[in-house]
Amino acid sequence: MQKSHVQIGQSPLPVYTVNTLIVGSGAAALGAAVNLLRQGVTDLAIVTEQWGGGTSNNAGSDKQTYYKLSLAGDVPDSPYQMARDLFAGGCMHGDLALCEAQGSPQAFFNLVSLGVPFPHDRYGGYVGYKTDHDPRQRATSAGPRTSHFMFERLAAEVQKHNVPIFDAHDVVALLTEEQEGETRVVGALALDKSNLNAPTRGFVLFNATNVVLGTGGPAAIYKTSVYPESQTGSTGMALEIGAVGNNLTESQYGLASIKFRWNVSGTYQQVIPRYISTAPDGSDEREFLNDYFPSMSKLATAIFLKGYQWPFDPRKVRNYGSSLTDILVYQETVLRGRRVFLDFRRNPSGAGKLEDFSFDLLEKEAYEYLEKSGALFGTPIERLAKMNQPAIDLYKDHGIDITQEPLEIAVCAQHNNGGLRVNIWWETSVKHLFAVGEVAGTHGVYRPGGASLNAGQVGGARAALFIAKRYQSHPVPVQKFAELVRAQVSAKLHLAEEMIDPAVEGAAAVWRLRDELQERMSSAGAV
Ligand SMILES: Cc1cc2nc3c(=O)[nH]c(=O)nc-3n(C[C@H](O)[C@H](O)[C@H](O)COP(=O)(O)OP(=O)(O)OC[C@H]3O[C@@H](n4cnc5c(N)ncnc54)[C@H](O)[C@@H]3O)c2cc1C
Repeated sequence: MQKSHVQIGQSPLPVYTVNTLIVGSGAAALGAAVNLLRQGVTDLAIVTEQWGGGTSNNAGSDKQTYYKLSLAGDVPDSPYQMARDLFAGGCMHGDLALCEAQGSPQAFFNLVSLGVPFPHDRYGGYVGYKTDHDPRQRATSAGPRTSHFMFERLAAEVQKHNVPIFDAHDVVALLTEEQEGETRVVGALALDKSNLNAPTRGFVLFNATNVVLGTGGPAAIYKTSVYPESQTGSTGMALEIGAVGNNLTESQYGLASIKFRWNVSGTYQQVIPRYISTAPDGSDEREFLNDYFPSMSKLATAIFLKGYQWPFDPRKVRNYGSSLTDILVYQETVLRGRRVFLDFRRNPSGAGKLEDFSFDLLEKEAYEYLEKSGALFGTPIERLAKMNQPAIDLYKDHGIDITQEPLEIAVCAQHNNGGLRVNIWWETSVKHLFAVGEVAGTHGVYRPGGASLNAGQVGGARAALFIAKRYQSHPVPVQKFAELVRAQVSAKLHLAEEMIDPAVEGAAAVWRLRDELQERMSSAGAV
């Protein structure tokens, strides 16, 4: 990497020239970096909004899942079969499904070799379990924070190789040139947030042959979200330069606590808590689900099933399915302006409309599961303590004691199955611009739980291989770069000046606009 300066606007801006610029420091971006190093591409730099920010390092769930080919025991599996199952999610590209299936063992064992603690038996078998939309036992998990371990181990590997990291730098624009009727990325404009008062206003340029975007999902477009606060997303800057999107409407939603953002999946539902709603001031408590279910048997079973049917699925609404609860929570919170809570302290009551809860009302699947877990007794919190004490401790660690108080929840955005369209090397429709991880739109309408983490790792490996073999030309000389991007950069500098100038009408509106957009997306984005 080389540093120089070019004069654009009032002050000379620093320019870093590098073969491959990686944007983001989540599991996908870091996976791409590690794979580039393995392929011998050492002229790299990582530019990231916040080292340690983003979804991978900060999100998790009851049992955060990683999906891969079945690799243990006598479970029959094949890459073709796995590709078919990924493809069956609808609107998924078959070639990408095949790449994700064939690349999954390599990606998985790369993580194993880096030290991600996936469980295995004493004979070396990485035994799996079934996740949603998964007919085999392809899922594995390193616990509630699988993606955090991935971040941690991949980050250590990148740091070991002294890859330059530009922390606290937001990439605000991708820079392009037109070549023979095609758009090609040539670098990026970033804002160094530690240097905003400098004459450059913190602007920094990157002159790169390739840009790998690993900027994650579009978290900041939602108000109610279980993405971590540190994740914003930057898909828009690729769309702005003409990159084509894919399945952008396919966001995943589910029930999550909102004071501390965490999915209330798995045992949080399997212990069958009481769903209550109140007026905004906490008065007028009601067990609102009772109005919509014909019997306690159907209601309690639907709550139980939500444990492993966590994301909202319109196919699971009919016949009092588990996703009916998402719709009713949405109706209560967004349409009626009430608050909804899970109360673990008492069993659901019929409140005169239905029978009161009792275990013999449960349908077979729910009854047998609780019986096997030794949890056919007591209150939801007592069952949770028996089945998964860490689930209680987790909230305690974040200042919420669910043994004493109800837990406020909402229907939250969690993941975008769509994103930027990529080819089988994870290159977008803009040449030399690659998209890996959640920013890439590689999933179908449905995806097996855990397929996101696999796709991020496989995508990084595919992009790295292609860059190493085909895209090793030098970046353009700095002066030529300056001429190519001068107009694009000047326009952004001008826009930035306007936004911070209190005299310009509407300058402060950018934050209001964001709030308004978030409000709209959370109330109508999934309708
Ligand atoms: C609660 C929850 C539970 C989940 N459970 C599962 C699961 O069980 N299995 C599964 O497969 N998936 C799961 N997911 C999804 C999965 O965790 C994410 O899709 C994945 O971690 C995203 O990784 P990523 O590397 O693409 O992006 P992220 O980890 O989000 O990283 C994005 C990076 O880009 C940076 N960035 C963004 N914009 C810019 C910019 N303009 N300039 C510089 N840097 C920028 C951010 O700071 C961050 O470093 C879950 C998600 C959530 C929220």
